[in-house]
Amino acid sequence: MKLRTGVLWIVLLLAGLFVFTRSEFKAIPNKLATEFSQFKTELAADNSTSTTSGVSSTQSATTTSVSSSSAAANTVTTEQTPIEPNVQNKTLAHTYYYHFAANMPAAAKQAFVAAIATYNQTGIVKLVAGAGTAEQNQITFFVYHKTMTAAQRGTVELGHGGPNIIQRIGWGAYTANHARAGLNATYTAAFNKSVAVHELGHALGLDHSTDSESVMYPVEQGKTVLTAADLAGLKSIYSN
Ligand SMILES: [Zn+2]
Repeated sequence: MKLRTGVLWIVLLLAGLFVFTRSEFKAIPNKLATEFSQFKTELAADNSTSTTSGVSSTQSATTTSVSSSSAAANTVTTEQTPIEPNVQNKTLAHTYYYHFAANMPAAAKQAFVAAIATYNQTGIVKLVAGAGTAEQNQITFFVYHKTMTAAQRGTVELGHGGPNIIQRIGWGAYTANHARAGLNATYTAAFNKSVAVHELGHALGLDHSTDSESVMYPVEQGKTVLTAADLAGLKSIYSN
């Protein structure tokens, strides 16, 4: 009798070890550094008193890059806004629990609240205020400060955001997206619904689009309405 109990314990121990070793977290490379930029000429237009030769040469260089990218956007027709690589082929629940980081300026919060409403109106995803568990999708909204250096002149980073896939395999397997979306508080132009819609789009798994009408176009165009292609991209992630 004693021997049988001992054998049973060994079997249970081995089974436990097997489960333990099988259920590890799988590391998935995440790309969070997707940025949203605004060409400096748009900001320079606000304080258009400086007319030195140095400024005008910068502006002409910037204008060239604007026209070349919009020319490319006009020729390329995309049926679906691309999906972030780490979200591809993942089964994600359509419900997200979101919260704001501490000390968020009211204007930044307001921009994100408007963006949340935009995505909730699609009926494809559902963003709910709250913390959520490890197994559930989560989004953290935040602000950060980044001043552009001389080497980065020509563009101003207004925000960044992206998905962060957590995948547990084996026993108790799940896949969740613990995403982040942030606005660059150094530039007040960042506290805009259009920037928030773009960064939240990244958080939900959308990648950059070459279509200048898309909210996922990498340069600020003031777009706040998701195009049919944006909706198709979102649907492809959350249609499971
Ligand atoms: Zn972006």
